[in-house]
Amino acid sequence: MLAEMKGINEECGVFGIWGHEKSAELTYYGLHSMQHRGQEGAGVVVSDGELKAHKGLGLVNDVFKQADFSKLSGDAAIGHVRYATQGGSAEENVQPLVFRSQNEGMALAHNGNIMNAETLRSELEGQGSILQTPSDTEVLAHLIKRRGMGLNETSITDAINQITGAYAFVILTEEKMYAALDPIGIRPLSIGKLGDAYVVASETCAFDQIGAAFEREVLPGELVTISDEGIASTRFAMRGQRKMCAMEYVYLSRPDSDVNEMNVHASRKLMGKELAEESPADADMVIGVPDSSISSAIGYAEASGLPYEMGIIKNRYVGRTFIKPSQELREQGVKLKLAPVRGIVEGKRIAMIDDSIIRGTTSKWIVHMLKQAGAAEVHVRIASPSIQHPCYYGIDMSTRDELIAANYTIDKISEMIGADSVAYLSEAGLEKAIVKDKTIHQGICMACMTGNYPVKKNSEHGVVFRS
Ligand code: AMP
Repeated sequence: MLAEMKGINEECGVFGIWGHEKSAELTYYGLHSMQHRGQEGAGVVVSDGELKAHKGLGLVNDVFKQADFSKLSGDAAIGHVRYATQGGSAEENVQPLVFRSQNEGMALAHNGNIMNAETLRSELEGQGSILQTPSDTEVLAHLIKRRGMGLNETSITDAINQITGAYAFVILTEEKMYAALDPIGIRPLSIGKLGDAYVVASETCAFDQIGAAFEREVLPGELVTISDEGIASTRFAMRGQRKMCAMEYVYLSRPDSDVNEMNVHASRKLMGKELAEESPADADMVIGVPDSSISSAIGYAEASGLPYEMGIIKNRYVGRTFIKPSQELREQGVKLKLAPVRGIVEGKRIAMIDDSIIRGTTSKWIVHMLKQAGAAEVHVRIASPSIQHPCYYGIDMSTRDELIAANYTIDKISEMIGADSVAYLSEAGLEKAIVKDKTIHQGICMACMTGNYPVKKNSEHGVVFRS
């Protein structure tokens, strides 16, 4: 059931540029800066009167060689980095997906999860559509074409209005580029400018990478159309209060990105500060688990007055451990990735900050590693509330059975991971760290922590939450 609801277009990063002669190269650099959002596949599609694609499995650097760019000339391009959970790592799933019919081409790149994709897929198949991949994105492409009125704002908004969930899309045709965000803006998507060229990206770090200036966020429920005539905006849904994914701040986004006009590093430091105030630790030093917890560890150290130390080293040449499919490989991945600094931690009482606990694999290993290196005590402090509910909006949050906090008390978790104590940031503390100005930041989605899902079950399409 869960596999049915969770599509295969998870996490991921999207990028698009219109009106630049080096569009493919700039897309490559943009994707490179968003590599942390997905390491399983990458692709670029350029438009030069016709659509040309280059994509493959692996890191951006593995997929693109210098020579590839000579075949990717064109003034507009979109790109995607893929983090696969369902659907496996087959090459056919690597985005952008490209479609051609009635002499019109269309390429789509998607970050998020269409919750009613399975229902729509069976409807489409019942009407004779033949879908080539298990991807949500292909479902959207069919919905756009089904109206038989060509590719334009109307056919796109009409298709988008049939889907529910969390999504940020970039669509490229020979004539135009489109960007769309779900009605409550769960996923991030921003617009920037590079000279006269327009750029869209999941994260603002991609703008900095290519020297583009941030213009604004795509608004919830907005379809943006970019062409040689400039930029136009249509609203396809009544805009609800924004519910930006809290995990973008906690873990997913790069610290130099601004999400919903809030710098990620700054918000993580505040999470650390709140955590120190809520759950102090009797410790000699604070250490953060590289990389995603460094910012909150600095915040914790500053607020508690304890020294911040580098007690763990990260080997930068191993991919993110979470991405490995089996638990065994995941554990092996953690071992390969992190090493304790014995000379620093030996004999010391440590406040170890991590951004989150999902299954408990990472924390368990780190506590074990620190103790083996001679740490006297390890007090685990988590800079987010406990994660007890699966995410249906595009984040790989596993099933309830696998979420350690959904199944065990905090004392039991502490015992299971071998810690001397464990504490999580409160929901109020997290909200305080993210929502600085309600008029700009509005609300955040904390469904994985609270079980309060902002996009409810869609009875029309028969989608029911399993929790
Ligand atoms: P686990 O080992 O299963 O408890 O996973 C926790 C670790 O995974 C944390 O240290 C985070 O840095 C990282 N993490 C948190 N959320 C995600 C996610 N959605 N995808 C990949 N990694 C994550």
